[in-house]
Amino acid sequence: MQKHILIVEDEPAIRDMVAFALRKAGMQAIHAADVRAAQTAIAERVPDLILLDWMLPGTSGIEFARRLRREELTRDTPVIMLTARGEEADRVNGLDAGVDDYVVKPFSARELIARIRAVLRRTHGEDSDGVIEVAGLRIDSAAHRVHAADQIIPIGPTEYRLLHFFMTHPDRVYSRSQLLDHVWGGGVYVEERTVDVHIRRLRVILAPHGLDGYVQTVRGAGYRFSAST
Ligand code: CA
Repeated sequence: MQKHILIVEDEPAIRDMVAFALRKAGMQAIHAADVRAAQTAIAERVPDLILLDWMLPGTSGIEFARRLRREELTRDTPVIMLTARGEEADRVNGLDAGVDDYVVKPFSARELIARIRAVLRRTHGEDSDGVIEVAGLRIDSAAHRVHAADQIIPIGPTEYRLLHFFMTHPDRVYSRSQLLDHVWGGGVYVEERTVDVHIRRLRVILAPHGLDGYVQTVRGAGYRFSAST
């Protein structure tokens, strides 16, 4: 799936260079010149990763990074800070703010893309072969297979898509309508009740392996996939 990257940077030359590099690497690039524009972009769609310049007009990048960590919607969205040389001493602040990595300016497109891939791999847990592993459960996107320990679990196509979405977006609550949009696709008319049916089937599939507790009901909100209770 194409990664959606938000670049928050006030210098047009860097913004354009980064956007070009991202598109060349097969990623989708959205840009914002300041924090306000970034918030508008995030409200429209939560990106898979945010590239955040340290020095921005108005609200600084580091302040915004802290805010992103506090908000439910962006708590798990990885952030890479773009910093100027000489700001290395400030990295400790950044680590406190929950930033995932740093790239020091001037950087090459190749270096930036490598860092982005590494962070995505670490945070989404998907390696280059499309294998995702969450405590005892493994999904292999290339082979379209699910394993619990070393056993292959037979699974229907909808439950597979649902599980794949959950495993790539763990520890976050999704409403029924969000799950419909992400798993069934927007524009398809399906009743929200359908989500419950497939959630139930997914639990039945996972239950013999003791993993059904990963699919959690969040009362009044929706569902969450998590290996911790
Ligand atoms: Ca700047």
